[in-house]
Amino acid sequence: MTKGNGFPTPELVCPACDREGLVVAQSDWRCPACALEGPALLGIADLRAFDDPFLDNRTDSSFAAELARASQELNSIQLLDYFYNNNPVPVSHSQKIGELAHIEAAPLRARAWLEAIGTIPEQGAILDLGCGPGAFLAAIANPNHLISDCDQSQISDRLALSTRYFWGADVALRWLVVARKRLDELALGPEKVRLVCCCAERSPFRSKSFALVVAGDVFEHVADQPATLAESHRTLVPGGKLFLASPNRYSLSLEPHVKVWGVGYLPRKLMPLYVRMLKGVDFRAIRTLGIREWKRTLAESPFQGGEISAPGPTQGEIARFRGLKRILARLYRIALANPLGRALALRIGPLFHVVCTKADSSPTIDPEATRPRSTTIEQPATPGAFSQRINQ
Ligand SMILES: [Zn+2]
Repeated sequence: MTKGNGFPTPELVCPACDREGLVVAQSDWRCPACALEGPALLGIADLRAFDDPFLDNRTDSSFAAELARASQELNSIQLLDYFYNNNPVPVSHSQKIGELAHIEAAPLRARAWLEAIGTIPEQGAILDLGCGPGAFLAAIANPNHLISDCDQSQISDRLALSTRYFWGADVALRWLVVARKRLDELALGPEKVRLVCCCAERSPFRSKSFALVVAGDVFEHVADQPATLAESHRTLVPGGKLFLASPNRYSLSLEPHVKVWGVGYLPRKLMPLYVRMLKGVDFRAIRTLGIREWKRTLAESPFQGGEISAPGPTQGEIARFRGLKRILARLYRIALANPLGRALALRIGPLFHVVCTKADSSPTIDPEATRPRSTTIEQPATPGAFSQRINQ
């Protein structure tokens, strides 16, 4: 409807001709250089190269359009409820409760993550890769939402959050519609936070766009982990950081996605069968790593390594726990205070935080030349994504 109008977006690169400056309108995007076009929803360009592992792109887009219509009448809390009541991906009641608690706790996580990240370059935007319903973006893009605490402003000032530009990316367009609603309600419109639907392994952003890429609870879901690291590296400015939070494969606690004990100790080929037998749910699209797998994966990436830690729960999180879980969480924090406890936590603790820094100068490597042109993605994209148009 609005062909030729819309925002010229220098950060977004054309999936066909690789030139910068896609023009994104409310319901479509267009490359001024090669005239390639594709769909958008609420100004969110659909630049996916292949399917969301949980839901094919066509079904996702159709549910996203339904959510966009519903969002005209509903507030973000009501929209989230609508999401769960009409979700094409079956979600149990306990899963829904767990996910809602996870969304609600985003400001607490945001603070812990930003503390782990330390400092970042002055120049460059911040990308939340796999932003889902936008809870982390809502917490950091408006520092007033970053939990009221005496050192809140220190974090905000150190990372210059009030003057940064933010991007949220996700492979699920349905989640981005919920995110847009939430962000707009907080007066964090496209002039402060832009959203794009894409794959982490084939990032639509131009090289050296970001001072910080944050991917929380995402890395275990991507189809190609090395390509995700390579693309994050390419899109960071020199000195920029990638932050990852991901569950430990060998955690002694329940596998957080499926609430099953001991999955990680099995050979990978047997994991889906084991989870299906116990819980009747799919585990094929989840790939958590242990500490040795993490070290190897990071060493082989363009970052050539990274800082891996096993974080304890924050005091705020402990306050939300009940009974035995609260006691265990307190004991875990105490154990982390000494080196032996920390070493043990890296083996069998529930979670990893990983911080990777892009070297300040890499004169021999042209970032464009290292862009993975084809990754080992087996699934073809469902028609509706841009690849269909390219292949025609
Ligand atoms: Zn183009």
